[in-house]
Amino acid sequence: MSDEHFHPESLTAQGLGWVDEATRAISPPIHVSSTYLRDPDNGYRSGRVYMRDHNPAFDQAEALITELEHGHETMLFASGMAAATAVFQALHPGDHVLAPKVMYWSLRNWLTGFATSWGLDVELIDMTDAAAVQAAIRPGATKLVWVETPANPLWTITDIAATASIAHAAGALLAVDSTPATPVLSQPLDLGADLVMHSATKYLNGHSDLTAGTVTTRADNEHWQRLRSVRAQIGGTLGSMESWLLLRGMRTLYLRVRTASASALQIAEYFHGHDRVAEVLYPGLPTSQGHEVAARQMPGGFGGMLSIRVAGGEQAAIAVAANTKLWKRATSLGGVESLIEHRASAEGAGTPAPPDLLRLSVGIEHAGDLIADLEQALVQP
Ligand code: PLP
Repeated sequence: MSDEHFHPESLTAQGLGWVDEATRAISPPIHVSSTYLRDPDNGYRSGRVYMRDHNPAFDQAEALITELEHGHETMLFASGMAAATAVFQALHPGDHVLAPKVMYWSLRNWLTGFATSWGLDVELIDMTDAAAVQAAIRPGATKLVWVETPANPLWTITDIAATASIAHAAGALLAVDSTPATPVLSQPLDLGADLVMHSATKYLNGHSDLTAGTVTTRADNEHWQRLRSVRAQIGGTLGSMESWLLLRGMRTLYLRVRTASASALQIAEYFHGHDRVAEVLYPGLPTSQGHEVAARQMPGGFGGMLSIRVAGGEQAAIAVAANTKLWKRATSLGGVESLIEHRASAEGAGTPAPPDLLRLSVGIEHAGDLIADLEQALVQP
């Protein structure tokens, strides 16, 4: 179906239009076999040996994400963390990597803890500042630059094209965690990134009922082959049921992301300048850091994630989260239901989140209801 040049909305709604050859089923079968029959001459002409790497349940979701990201190939993993850490595990001990100070906290902790103790030379920098990237990169020694944009939980923007140029000039790969942007709003590979990663737990699946991760590459190369070995050997692979659910969730990706993104902009504009809100952090506001870059590299909208800083400090922020009725107090993001979280409590020591910050993941409820609920939570004594 992709050969016919249908729009990504059409390809996504129909899961690339694949139909099961054996049954003519439009919804794919769920394969649960962990192993595959060898041919009498000892070969494996089917190309499938064992579930860890050859599960047919991966094929449709991987092909669809490759199409949406304009990539060469995609691999599914058991979670976003399994996907992201595999990208680093495919490097060599001693390799120098640059990562942002502001990024998904659990990956930052893994990089400065586990990955460093296994021999990676990890340097955290201000990735939104091209001069800082240029100053930190070591030609020949830096093998990977990791970008997250918009970045958790301040929603700061990194210029992907500018960072890709710096990385490539030094001989490094550029990987982008595009979870908050989604393929609906941004195509990092078109901007020069080599790899794009998603926590598919979030928008790609969209229903808060599984964990999954994806990595898509622009080209086949040595790092991609090592990444494939990491997945096959370490086995952080997605189960058949989860792969099926992910594909089902993705069929409504465009509707969900566009609704969330439009509502997030409305919410950001409403609370910008509100007397109980010290600051709204959202790349869609012209006053926000990186707004112009975001407008260029996210032409379809600024996404469904924003944060507010509550006037009155930490206790006031925690009270606002407690006062909401429609917004659910929970971690995670990208689901159909809107979530609110006091982020400093979640991240603990070393967080870049100010103590008065509430992170908002906007779902697909009525934007007016979400605004009214937050308004009443903010003005309660
Ligand atoms: N990247 C980002 C931007 C995230 O927000 C998360 C999870 O919150 C992850 C990666 C990790 O994904 P997972 O929870 O699926 O392991």
